[in-house]
Amino acid sequence: MMTRRYFLTGSAIGVVAAAGSAWWTLAPRAAAESFAVTHAEEEWRALLTADQYAVLRQSATERPYTSPLLHEKRRGNFACVGCDLDVFSSTTKYESGTGWPSFWAPIETAVGTARDLSFGMVRTAVHCGRCGGHLGHVFNDGPKPTGLRYCMNGIALAFKPLAA
Ligand SMILES: [Zn+2]
Repeated sequence: MMTRRYFLTGSAIGVVAAAGSAWWTLAPRAAAESFAVTHAEEEWRALLTADQYAVLRQSATERPYTSPLLHEKRRGNFACVGCDLDVFSSTTKYESGTGWPSFWAPIETAVGTARDLSFGMVRTAVHCGRCGGHLGHVFNDGPKPTGLRYCMNGIALAFKPLAA
C-alpha cells in the first residue's frame, strides 16, 4: 500500500525510470547548483550507462546487495563515474550491513549535500562536488570517529586501487 503510493508520487513529479528497468527506486533530484563539470542531458545519457544515469542524474537508488564494490577491500579511491573525481577513500570504508557500500567520511571537499524530502522521509542526499551527480545519502548512525554513514550507490562509483 505505502510502496504503491510512493511509487505513484514519484511518477507524478515526472521522475520516471527508463522503460523495463525496475531494480531501483526513485527520488527527485536535489535543487540545481552550478558545477565545474556540466553536460546536457543527452550528453549524460551518452556518457553513462542507463543504470548510472538513473542514479547520478535522476537520484535513483540501486537495489541493495547488487554492487560488486560492497566486497571491495583493497586500498584505493572510489571515484564518481560522472566526472572521475575521487570522492571516497578505502580508509573510511566499512561494512554497514545495509547492502550498500558505506563510508564514515568522504574525501574532504569532494561531495556536497542537500535536503531530500522524497518518499515521505527527511534525508540528506550526497552529490559529487564536481559534476553534481547523485551518489547516495548520509545518515547519523555511522561508526566513530564521525558517527556518519555515507550510504553510497556502488554503481555511481569506480574503484581505483592504489599501486602496490
Ligand atoms: Zn562527479
